[in-house]
Amino acid sequence: MADCVFCKIGAGQIPTQFVWQDEHAVAFRDIRPLAPTHVVIIPRRHAQTFGDLGDRDSGFLSSLGKAIREIAEAEGVAATGYRILSNNGHDGGQEVPHLHLHLLGGRELGPMLVRRSKESGV
Ligand code: AMP
Repeated sequence: MADCVFCKIGAGQIPTQFVWQDEHAVAFRDIRPLAPTHVVIIPRRHAQTFGDLGDRDSGFLSSLGKAIREIAEAEGVAATGYRILSNNGHDGGQEVPHLHLHLLGGRELGPMLVRRSKESGV
């Protein structure tokens, strides 16, 4: 997509140091890291959310497992643990409209989400 920053990164049009790459996916460090390890993994082909993936994206989906495994090993968080997180759409809090997964680790990350209220519990 013409104006998509992550498409440009994936295509090599914005100079970015990749921590991992193959023909389907690239991974790079988040510019505003939330943990000692904060890597963003994206498909090279544009899709906005997981809901936009189709048959053409099977290559990306199989790359993903390998990417996560190898990045976690290389970053030294495979044994201590890490979190994979993907914000999708408005309620998911997605800021960059190109599908991506965050790999976070290097410290105890705490609960998955903060509970909104004691009354509702969710
Ligand atoms: P979100 O869409 O909320 O899952 O978050 C998008 C993430 O992309 C944020 O953590 C940003 O800091 C990160 N980000 C945005 N632009 C860049 C960039 N050019 N290079 C690296 N990370 C980026």
